[in-house]
Amino acid sequence: MHYEVDTHTHTLASGHAYNTLMEMVHAAASKGLKALAITDHTKGVPGHEMFGAPEDIYFRNFSVIPKVIGGVRLLMGAEVNILNGGTIDLSERALRLQDIVIASIHKQCYDNEGLEGNTKAMLKIVENPYVDILGHPDDSSTPFDYEQVVAKAAETGTIFELNENSYREPWLRKNCRENQLTYLALCKKWGVPVTIGSDAHFVDVVGQHEHNEAVLKEVDFPMELVMNTSAEKLINYLKARKARFLQ
Ligand SMILES: [Zn+2]
Ligand SMILES: [Zn+2]
Repeated sequence: MHYEVDTHTHTLASGHAYNTLMEMVHAAASKGLKALAITDHTKGVPGHEMFGAPEDIYFRNFSVIPKVIGGVRLLMGAEVNILNGGTIDLSERALRLQDIVIASIHKQCYDNEGLEGNTKAMLKIVENPYVDILGHPDDSSTPFDYEQVVAKAAETGTIFELNENSYREPWLRKNCRENQLTYLALCKKWGVPVTIGSDAHFVDVVGQHEHNEAVLKEVDFPMELVMNTSAEKLINYLKARKARFLQ
């Protein structure tokens, strides 16, 4: 299966990724991608920092960047941190300007609250109109009730992510494969869309998706719910979400 879009990548700006935006775009072009999402990390809050991530203004100046470079359509966005209580760490002013927003739990910025507390936080995230995608929701060290959150995502149109980076040694997220299989089955049942994202922090893995593709096959997931199969499909979906929730 050819996927036209990588929906999750990082540049030097994230503070722990190693390539420029242009290098990432060239990598995407060389792999035949039609669109690339650049989703750098946000900086967290005092006491729960993502060290090295850029200030809010970085995410407010994307209008200087061409929409298309070298034939690749750019989706400029952010991977925001989910904070305890289910809030996120980017200003509304910046959120309004993003083409795509992924919200993820990172241990630096979130203290595990157990199944019930995490579920409450995730439900709040899914209800946040600015959050398009739940990033790598596949880690058993911060468990939440998949059924409840997928059911809520069916109402809000929030996308569940399959993250290729979850499989990377030695960072491997706890039970990522099993958890992906669990929420994919639920997304299939509730008609919730998914994206596959390389979460590349280096050019070599842009567009990589072999583990994610394997789990999609394993649950015989309907391809119409996989947003990466067409750049146009993804962009139209994101636009429709914005039109529905953000006036
Ligand atoms: Zn992440
Ligand atoms: Zn990431």
